[in-house]
Amino acid sequence: MSKKILVVGGGLAGTIVANGLCRHLGKELRSKTVQITMLGTSERHLYQPALLFVPFGLAGEDDLFRNQRKLLNRHITYHVDPAKHIDAKNKKVTTKQGKVLYYDYLILATGSRIMPQSIPGMAEGGHWFYDLDGARKMRSALQEFTGGKIIINVNAPHKCPVAPLEITFMLYDYLEKRGLLDKSEITYTYPIGRLHALEPVADWCKPEMDKKGIKYETFFNAETVDPEKKTITSMEGSTLEYDMLITIPPHAGMDVVDKSNLGRGGWATTDPKSLQHSKHDTIFVIGDTTDIPISKAGSTAHFETEVVIANITSLIQEGCWSRYYDGKVFCFLETGMDEGTYVWFDYETPPNPGPSSQMIHWLKLTYNRLYWLSARGLL
Ligand SMILES: Cc1cc2nc3c(=O)[nH]c(=O)nc-3n(C[C@H](O)[C@H](O)[C@H](O)COP(=O)(O)OP(=O)(O)OC[C@H]3O[C@@H](n4cnc5c(N)ncnc54)[C@H](O)[C@@H]3O)c2cc1C
Repeated sequence: MSKKILVVGGGLAGTIVANGLCRHLGKELRSKTVQITMLGTSERHLYQPALLFVPFGLAGEDDLFRNQRKLLNRHITYHVDPAKHIDAKNKKVTTKQGKVLYYDYLILATGSRIMPQSIPGMAEGGHWFYDLDGARKMRSALQEFTGGKIIINVNAPHKCPVAPLEITFMLYDYLEKRGLLDKSEITYTYPIGRLHALEPVADWCKPEMDKKGIKYETFFNAETVDPEKKTITSMEGSTLEYDMLITIPPHAGMDVVDKSNLGRGGWATTDPKSLQHSKHDTIFVIGDTTDIPISKAGSTAHFETEVVIANITSLIQEGCWSRYYDGKVFCFLETGMDEGTYVWFDYETPPNPGPSSQMIHWLKLTYNRLYWLSARGLL
């Protein structure tokens, strides 16, 4: 009997894991003793990290999208038909169109979504760059901006831990280039008592913001936005006026997780080392979908895929376990329009951002192009 691997979610994590499995299980796929199927929501694959560049007119469709089927190894059967319910006990998935698919191993990679609508007034009053529509609207708003107060409001949880800092530092350079810095004021708000969830990053970015005259307010959890009065008010009782509000909206996971009793808020309960679902060992969870308390980032997803590829391959070929995830995350961090640094960390090692350089900025841009090879499982 052939082993059925079902990947739910064809984003960054799902695509890398499915292609990686094809590379390791070529013999089994050719002899049809293994079958790999993927369920997704679109014919197009969006490379989300490139959205950061859209508001500044520095990324277009070609940087953002590829055809999903062309990214996938020819052995993968791809259905644009999202999973509606996962029956972990009977190892079967029902899709939106009513297909029923059985699996031996399921890889859950449904990602996360932004929820601006969860804060009254935010969808109407705020701009964001965390989806394409938002990033394009933000680009138009920036083009029309002639100076004033800009609030960069960060909410939790959110993916890409460093993107809020990147947009802040890039915006500073953008305003300077347009001669608007003297007429503008940038204020960055963060929900906890420091400027970043990762303490060493918070310690690093505070003097960077001070140097540039970027203001900040901590313990600011957005409660309401008044688009008419152009104010944002926090649960802590602080009200700030803005001419332009840039927000990183709070995120949630996907409904299918809760409806299938696999977790809460769309985050599936996941063992931080084995990446198996805490109650179902034939379900592996990767990428933003996990409830592991580490950064939700593409690099996290990528390092997790390596572990899941190794373990499913090993289970199929040798009947045993191969390796555990060590919590590794690596993020490039743009510190302006043409400089960057990076952070890496794992469960044992805290991050330690180094000095910025042009070279690191170019490495980030190079990786953005190489991503398409990565997604194909070639890097
Ligand atoms: C602006 C921005 C900048 C970023 N910058 C960086 C960066 O510099 N470095 C970095 O490491 N990370 C970065 N990230 C984060 C990174 O893009 C995400 O962490 C990464 O995409 C997570 O991968 P994923 O596969 O878990 O989720 P996704 O890539 O979001 O994929 C999930 C997929 O599952 C699909 N899906 C949802 N529900 C279902 C269902 N029921 N059935 C089937 N399919 C479903 C979705 O449509 C989607 O295609 C950035 C993100 C943004 C928005």
